[in-house]
Amino acid sequence: MISNIAYITNHANLLKPSSITIDITDKCSLRCKTCSKWLSKGEKEELDTHSWQKVISLLKEWLGDCRVCISGGELFLRDDIFEIISFARKQNVYVTAVTSGYHIDTTLAEKILTSGLNGISVTLNGITPETHDFTRGVKGSYEKALSAINLLNNSKKNMFVCVTTVLMGYNQQEVVDLIKFTRENHLDGITFQALHDASSFRPFDNGHHFHEENTWYVNHSLWPKDISNMLSVIDEIIEHKKKGYPVGNSFESLQWMKRYFQNPKEMLKTKCMVGLNNFSIDPYGETRLCFNMDSIGNILSQKPNKLWNCRKAIQQRKHIKTCKNTCRILMCNFNDKKAD
Ligand code: SF4
Ligand code: SF4
Repeated sequence: MISNIAYITNHANLLKPSSITIDITDKCSLRCKTCSKWLSKGEKEELDTHSWQKVISLLKEWLGDCRVCISGGELFLRDDIFEIISFARKQNVYVTAVTSGYHIDTTLAEKILTSGLNGISVTLNGITPETHDFTRGVKGSYEKALSAINLLNNSKKNMFVCVTTVLMGYNQQEVVDLIKFTRENHLDGITFQALHDASSFRPFDNGHHFHEENTWYVNHSLWPKDISNMLSVIDEIIEHKKKGYPVGNSFESLQWMKRYFQNPKEMLKTKCMVGLNNFSIDPYGETRLCFNMDSIGNILSQKPNKLWNCRKAIQQRKHIKTCKNTCRILMCNFNDKKAD
């Protein structure tokens, strides 16, 4: 209700963001076909440990005991990641992480398990090495992801361990087996994210440009060729969720996914609420409402509450209302409460 009023009247000051993401590095060892963060030139200096700790203190001051999701790139490529996580936990900030699992061996798993991290999601795009490795662009990444899942899941205490899967034509036949895998291995869940344009995930130091409208999916090699089969696959996901399998997506988001794969432009019938829900911080401290649009300012130069209500943010919220992109289907952007 309040978010609808805030949306219609452009009064974001009525709200605070509910989804805080920290893209802590652009560096990554994988070469995913669904992302292009790995195109980072690595020339621009990312924030240091002290600066990230300051960012966390600023968020805490603004939002209280909030939740942040640390992503990248690959967060475990940062030597200081445990100092940053530990600092956030001491401030009573709830911290989750998204990883490829590629660097998680026994030693790193032990550090993660004792870091205080509240939850971790490992990306697994297939139940076979062929499918996962192909989509991740690096041979051997399946074995490493699987090993990371086992190392973390077998010894977890107060941390959840989940799987995230990008749903696309290339892996649609493996989805049901992936759901069964999560239950058989007592994982805490599996969440599906519909395939989206890889250029939306460009590194922030290398041509991250906003496009008004984009029909990338036409003739895209990973887009499902057999749409009716994809719709049946999503129906199977829904059926498994009804039976109690740990599918993290809401029923509503799965129904929207069906509409999206039939015709991505269907998403334009929903409001994109990122302007009122999301607050993302990139490796250089630049903040965004929409992950595709320009920065609204650097968090080390202006307090986050000022950024949230600054003139650029107000202008961007108007722009978000008329945006014709379909990435509102992504789980970090999708909001069950949005009005059709
Ligand atoms: S999706 Fe994640 S693992 Fe893959 S290239 Fe992008 S940042 Fe790296
Ligand atoms: S649909 Fe939403 S998240 Fe995607 S580019 Fe437009 S405003 Fe941004």
